[in-house]
Amino acid sequence: MLVVMQHGATQAQVDGVVRTIEEMGYQARAMPGAQRTAVGLVGNDGRVDSSRIEALEGVAQVIHVSQPYKQVSREWRPENTIVTIAPGVAFGGDEIPVIAGPCSVESEEQILAAARAVRDAGAVALRGGAFKPRSSPYAFQGLGRKGLELLAIAREETGLAIVTEAMDDEGAHLVAEFADCIQIGARNMQNYSLLRSVGRIGKPVLLKRGLAATINDLLLSAEYILAEGNSQVILCERGVRSFDPAVRNMFDLTAVPLVHKLSHLPIIADPSHGTGLRDKVTPMARAAIAAGADGVMVEVHPTPERALSDGGQSLYPDQFASLVRELRAIAGAIGRTLAVQPGTRSAARV
Ligand code: PEP
Ligand code: MN
Repeated sequence: MLVVMQHGATQAQVDGVVRTIEEMGYQARAMPGAQRTAVGLVGNDGRVDSSRIEALEGVAQVIHVSQPYKQVSREWRPENTIVTIAPGVAFGGDEIPVIAGPCSVESEEQILAAARAVRDAGAVALRGGAFKPRSSPYAFQGLGRKGLELLAIAREETGLAIVTEAMDDEGAHLVAEFADCIQIGARNMQNYSLLRSVGRIGKPVLLKRGLAATINDLLLSAEYILAEGNSQVILCERGVRSFDPAVRNMFDLTAVPLVHKLSHLPIIADPSHGTGLRDKVTPMARAAIAAGADGVMVEVHPTPERALSDGGQSLYPDQFASLVRELRAIAGAIGRTLAVQPGTRSAARV
């Protein structure tokens, strides 16, 4: 439930609403906004008697959020949430950041080569898994802590923000020490204790859509993170399982306008896992930007044929460089721009 204050309501009136909500046994979240101040009632509000709140001084309106997710919904917050993971790397505004890098961190040489290549091509964030959720327990599982240390070296050298996956609570605390944004992978989208954990850690989170998750499931998973007080959540469409073995997953770009309608959170697209095939990545990345995605995440490897995971869907560095040039033109056509690394602004215009 959302209590919208009158225009010009005083702080004392806002405090009065907060106090009443707390007296009723709920948590209150005051949200000063550009247009209005609102106070959210956090929790299952099905039985709340709103007449007590409606009668308080300074209250304009009480809105019952109709969706099962509350804080994630547009009803709760009409303005877009902008999630800034590092200086100049903000998701949800007019600028579109590109995240790129290998599926897994494999060695210092590999991650540094990948980082330099994607930075030179125009990416502003580096991806690379140190903890890998592989379908087989016998497949490469990632370098763990060593992988995180290598990502930190790559950030130091290139200035790229770091996005990397955590698979459990302990890993999430470790990832938070090294990364700018904690990725929750498709297989863990409904790992509710992990969602609560990253909610409490408070760092930006990249939440990927589950393999068979509906948009409603995705938004409810995001709600777990916001319910712990962390609103820095970026959603990610990465394809869902389908009946058709022609592609690894079915890349569902309708998710982008759907999420924009239902939620204030930014949504990016991952055409690498979304298609699973290198030659399908470029067209679908272009389509994602055209559809309004707030970012793209693309797998790029210096030598994909030698990759320890997902080589078949990883772009070669020169393919990625052409893709970024195309994405810049598409973003311009819809009134947006690709984000550039701070300090390289004039160079990126040419
Ligand atoms: C990844 O980003 O490398 C990954 C494992 O993605 P997903 O969780 O979407 O399968
Ligand atoms: Mn991968």
